[in-house]
Amino acid sequence: MRGLMQDWPLLCHRIIDHAAKNHGEREVVTRSVEGPIHRTTYGEIRKRSLKVAQRLDKEGIVLGDRVATIAWNTWRHLEAWYGIMGIGAICHTVNPRLFPDQIAWIINHAQDRIVMTDLTFIPILEKIADQIPSVERYIVFTDKAHMPQTTLKNVVAYEDWINEVDGNFQWKEFDENTAAAMCYTSGTTGDPKGVLYSHRSNVLHALVANNGDALGTTSKDTMLPVVPLFHANSWGIAFSAPSMGTKLVMPGAKLDGASVYELLSTEKVTYTAGVPTVWLMLLQYMQKEKLTLPDLKVVICGGSAMPRSMIKAFADMGVEPRHAWGMTEMSPLGTVCTLQGQFKDLEGDAKFDILQTQGFSPFMVEMKLVDDNEKLIPHDGKTFGRLLVRGPAVAKGYFRVDKNILDSEGYFDTGDVATIDEYGYMRITDRSKDVIKSGGEWISSIDLENLAVGHPQVAEAAVIGVFHPKWDERPLLIVQLKPDQQVSREDLLKYMDGKIAKWWMPDDVVFVDAIPHTATGKILKTALRDQFKEYTLP
Ligand code: ADP
Repeated sequence: MRGLMQDWPLLCHRIIDHAAKNHGEREVVTRSVEGPIHRTTYGEIRKRSLKVAQRLDKEGIVLGDRVATIAWNTWRHLEAWYGIMGIGAICHTVNPRLFPDQIAWIINHAQDRIVMTDLTFIPILEKIADQIPSVERYIVFTDKAHMPQTTLKNVVAYEDWINEVDGNFQWKEFDENTAAAMCYTSGTTGDPKGVLYSHRSNVLHALVANNGDALGTTSKDTMLPVVPLFHANSWGIAFSAPSMGTKLVMPGAKLDGASVYELLSTEKVTYTAGVPTVWLMLLQYMQKEKLTLPDLKVVICGGSAMPRSMIKAFADMGVEPRHAWGMTEMSPLGTVCTLQGQFKDLEGDAKFDILQTQGFSPFMVEMKLVDDNEKLIPHDGKTFGRLLVRGPAVAKGYFRVDKNILDSEGYFDTGDVATIDEYGYMRITDRSKDVIKSGGEWISSIDLENLAVGHPQVAEAAVIGVFHPKWDERPLLIVQLKPDQQVSREDLLKYMDGKIAKWWMPDDVVFVDAIPHTATGKILKTALRDQFKEYTLP
């Protein structure tokens, strides 16, 4: 027997409808790419999203067509986002930090028909325009007054383009499993892979994010997503914030410490989210200028491990550091770290030991650990294993790749190595390809990096395995110091000594001017492994 409840498909544009009806005056504030601060509301954003939908319809864009955005977090990007999805087209967010050839590869693979972009990225697109024949039209997120000279063909300013229609339009109707959005993983190995989100998975993911132990913002909060819309849907915030009526502050093109601080402070932001490098810049700026952020309640940090020193720095400011883990294939939230009831009164190291884990799964994410023979590993907080996940917002395949990516129980292999404890707290020890195998035993590069960045003079640290004739591999610590600081190899090793097992101690330390990063802000270990492939340990 089937239930007798209404068939109300879970569609992304229903989120902006809800926000406009119930929180229509709630602001969306942007540092515009042109410069000035721009203020609008969810009510206005919905109206202009409908214009985008109508205009795309007039352009001949139909269900299933791909429309790319290569753009910063701004109100216009948000309007385009809902407008594209609202006619059943697919909003393909492209990461502008990729190499131009990778961008061309992705646009060709996705067969994007339209590209919507910011002024910043016109030069990149001009360079690759000849290589992306599927693109019929370029829309630049600006007005006529700011349109530059460009060699791009069939190009128009967004404001002119949407003003060609009146906005008297209805969202299209389609099934909730229709594709809504698309994001390619950055593919540090092999070709990038397209993750294809559905309307249903995005709406369910917004509900997951709204959980109080996840992002959990309310209509009283103000959220500043530093994490870009092109980095796994800005971790779902473009859906979760409007669904809750949370005020949004969009940082535009300026993500340095001073600019992010200014917005956090002037807009009285209560929640913010971004990768560790962004928080490093913010903390350094605040320490230098002796600044505070009395309104800020929660900093969500993910994408790479959040070092203990950073967790402590936020806690000392009276801000809750919330470590999160996820991946593009998971929409992206997998776990978020808050103190469960039994731990809420913990203080000192015991508290930080928990906050440093990647946290536990919200409802709708299931995790398991297996060994190399696919045998389940106990959740004892100690034994490492390969981490697999399943849930309604987890990918079951990649766009135009005909290959099963799930195991017999429907789990997806994350490529991460982790432990899970009896309370469900998960701790990532490594990417499986970054694990260091010394004499057959695993050493966690993440644990060593976290420890090294705790040293007051260290800005960033990376650990890779290098060849060793007896142990196969041994850890090499690569360090970028804070500006104008000096530390010796011996001092650093002395600082680490006693805080980890003796046999985990790096065999050597090298100092570099800059640690390379991927397009999503992670340490680019492949480049470091290349750089140090001839390295011989002392
Ligand atoms: P890409 O950067 O390749 O596009 P994602 O952004 O989806 O891919 O990255 C997902 C990976 O990032 C995870 O599988 C994990 O290795 C790493 N990661 C994400 N969050 C954390 C975290 N809090 N701690 C450690 N690693 C993390």
